[in-house]
Amino acid sequence: MVETPGSQSSLHRANLERVIRAVRMAGSLTQAEIARTTGLSAATVSNIVRELKEGGTVEVTPTSAGGRRARAVALSADAGIVVGVDFGHSHLRVAVGNLAHKVLAEDAEPIDVDASSAEGFDRAERLVRRLVSESGISPGKIIGIGLGVPGPIDIGTGVLGSTAILPGWAGAHPRDEMAARTGVPVYVDNDANLGALGERVWGAGQGADDLAYIKVASGVGAGLVINGQIYRGPGGTAGEIGHITLDESGPVCRCGNRGCLETFTAARYVLPLLHSSHGTGLTMARVVRLAGEGDPGCRRVIADIGRHIGSGVASLCNLLNPSRVVLGGDLAEAGDLVLDPVRDSVARYSIPSAARQLRVSPGELGSRAEVLGALALVLNEMGEATLLDAAASFAA
Ligand SMILES: [Zn+2]
Repeated sequence: MVETPGSQSSLHRANLERVIRAVRMAGSLTQAEIARTTGLSAATVSNIVRELKEGGTVEVTPTSAGGRRARAVALSADAGIVVGVDFGHSHLRVAVGNLAHKVLAEDAEPIDVDASSAEGFDRAERLVRRLVSESGISPGKIIGIGLGVPGPIDIGTGVLGSTAILPGWAGAHPRDEMAARTGVPVYVDNDANLGALGERVWGAGQGADDLAYIKVASGVGAGLVINGQIYRGPGGTAGEIGHITLDESGPVCRCGNRGCLETFTAARYVLPLLHSSHGTGLTMARVVRLAGEGDPGCRRVIADIGRHIGSGVASLCNLLNPSRVVLGGDLAEAGDLVLDPVRDSVARYSIPSAARQLRVSPGELGSRAEVLGALALVLNEMGEATLLDAAASFAA
């Protein structure tokens, strides 16, 4: 049936989709909250929720909101599953979740950085199949796969740009490779954006519509959530906070400029500072641990990293005025040893009104932030129509 825009049935369909959109990123909302978010009347919300419940798209459970009895609406656990795949410098991590934001299965394996991208995708496919099978749900219920890659990705073409982290992957086409192996839609994003999504849905960013997730690892990047949406920019390179210039006569950066924030904070620049005192073979995780045990050299290095990140965060505050900054990666484990210097620099270099409402917190998800963000990416990107149609086809 062809629906005329503005007709009764297309209006109804639009309302169904509005309710689904409100619920899928929140995880669970009361009917009053749905009415507030969508602008629909309480009576309309009540009717639509009943219809979606009968169709198997949502589940309704009793809850108490502010001491009052209410009904919580969540996407049905049976309405489909989503899969997250995260490729990092040395690991492959996969998670399987349902649409009610519950993680059903999760595992990680080491990967060889020098292996080809094809080998990486083959292993990812095997791990996805094993975990879906362990979760006891039919692979036919996979609605989409979110895929995290450690490098710049062209969102339009899906091609991975040059990557210093997995050299054999430059020019790879992760979205098509994964879709060809699994036969389901694949959504791709970089690790910083996924970290932002993961922390926003499951971790330290819950409830924040304007959020920056700062990931300090082999490189330094930021995932930006603005007005509740990931901001990527037309080329997908938004959030390159690592290349803010801190010192024009500083070390030469891999981007070709000098004195970028990354050259004062990323592991490969910072760890050599400790070689003469602590020997080679250090990792950032070990430096964080030693700093926690009181090692003065490691404490100094961590504090300096925090101070420099804080300068970058101060610029970010002046431009975007986020309400929350979440620090992810190994560095987050240092807690206040790194966060206090970040806060000091923010207070020093940002406009007071931009920093006043800012909360700087450590990530809560650790190394799981990206793979959970990959699950959130599917929830974020899949159309409401996909869900309605999926529920209808599973019911058939
Ligand atoms: Zn640079």
